[in-house]
Amino acid sequence: MSISPIRTGSTAGNSSDFMSDYKDLQIDDQWIRKQRGTKNQVDLFRPCHFLIEKERTLSGSIEDIITIFLTNRECSFSCLMCDLWKNTTDRTVPDGAIPTQIEWALQQLPPARHIKLYNSASFFDPGAIPPADYSRIAELVKPFDTVIVENHPLLTGERCLQFARMIRPQLQVAMGLETIHSGVLHRLNKKMKPEDFRNATHFLKENGISSRTFILLRPPFLSEAEGVHWAKESMHLNRELIAVWSFPHGQATEPWNCCNRLDTLPLLNFGRWRKSRNMGSV
Ligand code: SF4
Repeated sequence: MSISPIRTGSTAGNSSDFMSDYKDLQIDDQWIRKQRGTKNQVDLFRPCHFLIEKERTLSGSIEDIITIFLTNRECSFSCLMCDLWKNTTDRTVPDGAIPTQIEWALQQLPPARHIKLYNSASFFDPGAIPPADYSRIAELVKPFDTVIVENHPLLTGERCLQFARMIRPQLQVAMGLETIHSGVLHRLNKKMKPEDFRNATHFLKENGISSRTFILLRPPFLSEAEGVHWAKESMHLNRELIAVWSFPHGQATEPWNCCNRLDTLPLLNFGRWRKSRNMGSV
């Protein structure tokens, strides 16, 4: 299949093609931030959202998994497709706020064996989750078997190991590869190359920490067919990836936010691709 580096055509009403109108534009932090509206009001001591849902686990079984969407300081990256900034603060939240949010959400939810602490940024960005809170978070997640956090590949380092050593459950780190199409990845303003992602996954693996990967299904600048092609190519970057979920990335309101993201789990006991209840197909 022949794929153009970045689409140049334009089709009315088609959000990704719409982005082709910006092909000559310098898409950087400044431009992206200029397009944004105002943030939602948030409570520093309450998560933005929490839920429990079924998901396939590393062992292959389908189990309940809790997700708590923590309220914290806005991500230090400004990716084009991301609208998670809407429910964030401008400053680092006070020490103790994050554990209070987790504790409160857990009181509202039934028990489960797995928990995602997603934070609209990087868990190991000290400006988002104060390291002073790690030990209280470790106490709160003691009853779980797995803790999944999200993190930018460039911030995946020693702090992950420090936290992994502090918690009883197994740590898993979710990272956004988005796409290995280097032209599109660059224009997404992710500020990393596919090699950075690969290095981060290897670093985690060498240290006994599993990872999962977010891949964009049809990012801006690509057609439907190109989006599917590059989602498949992106999964091949790490041949250990498996089990794909497709979900909207935030509540998209702008054309550049209107892409779906695939959530992939590492291949451990899976001998081949398996479908789960909410698995997307590519
Ligand atoms: S996609 Fe992730 S790294 Fe990029 S701005 Fe959003 S939260 Fe930050």
